[in-house]
Amino acid sequence: MTPAIRTHGLGRDYGPVRAVAGLDLVVEPGQVFAFLGPNGAGKTTTIRMLLALQRQTSGRAEVLGLDCARDYVEVHRRTGYLPGELALYPRMTGRQHIAWHAGARGLRELSLAWTLADRFGAVLDRPARDLSKGNKQKVGLILAFMSRPELLILDEPTSGLDPLTRSEFAGLVREVTAEGRTVFWSAHELDEVQRLADRVAIIRQGRLIATETVEALRASTPQTVTARFARPVDPALFAGISGVSVTSCAGAVVQLRVTDAIGPVLRAVADHDPVDFTAQHADLDELFLAYYRQPTAAEPSHAS
Ligand code: ATP
Repeated sequence: MTPAIRTHGLGRDYGPVRAVAGLDLVVEPGQVFAFLGPNGAGKTTTIRMLLALQRQTSGRAEVLGLDCARDYVEVHRRTGYLPGELALYPRMTGRQHIAWHAGARGLRELSLAWTLADRFGAVLDRPARDLSKGNKQKVGLILAFMSRPELLILDEPTSGLDPLTRSEFAGLVREVTAEGRTVFWSAHELDEVQRLADRVAIIRQGRLIATETVEALRASTPQTVTARFARPVDPALFAGISGVSVTSCAGAVVQLRVTDAIGPVLRAVADHDPVDFTAQHADLDELFLAYYRQPTAAEPSHAS
């Protein structure tokens, strides 16, 4: 199956600044692909190269099997795009934006646009200059989704949205992927994409530092094990197991941090008359922050 997005060594320098470096990405169709990274990581630059709004300085990119730089008209026709910094015409209302956008795309059927406006509770009859940030964002989302595109490229789509609209948006994303369409979702935080994303790519200083499924990310976080025994135990029983550290021991309750296989821990617990046992992976946020903080060796932030 043709990937929705594929990049080969994609890069962009702005003078001495290496905004994106050697990016190899594959986004399978029908997925929600979260593209995550801190401020200035290169997310918007990557997205703009996918849409030929910015020229790459190295490598190449394909969207829906099309060469982004050469076939950009077709790429735009088949893609819905929500820019990170949405520019609406200040005097035009949401309704006029929708009509204008439909005209530009040759779209006659607007029922989806009005349904989306209802779902989001979008204000369509006021000039854009009088709209709040969230209400502008709702118009931007309608413009991105209204043509039922095969691929949605969304740069921080939930920015400025209230929780109700976020939840409506999440439902919409699920519907889109249930139809086999693809969502490429750029964000700063894992928090809200983790429930929806099939894969997560983390970019930092222009380089891809991880691409994983959310389950694999979760599995790679340490586990906290709490075991309660029938009588007090010696914590040294666990301290010698590979990848285990004892975080607390209060009488008959022992808490462990486990970064390795859990089997040896289970066996050691089972040998000492346990009465209760829980194991849970650390919050993904912790792992995520570690990725963001990670020093990247041989990491030129400047083009050489
Ligand atoms: P944010 O989450 O803050 O929106 P981002 O991940 O989208 O950040 P980019 O906007 O792609 O990051 O920026 C990547 C790097 O490229 C940054 O160092 C930024 O300063 C630089 N950059 C982006 N656009 C330009 C430009 N037009 N001229 C010079 N440098 C630029």
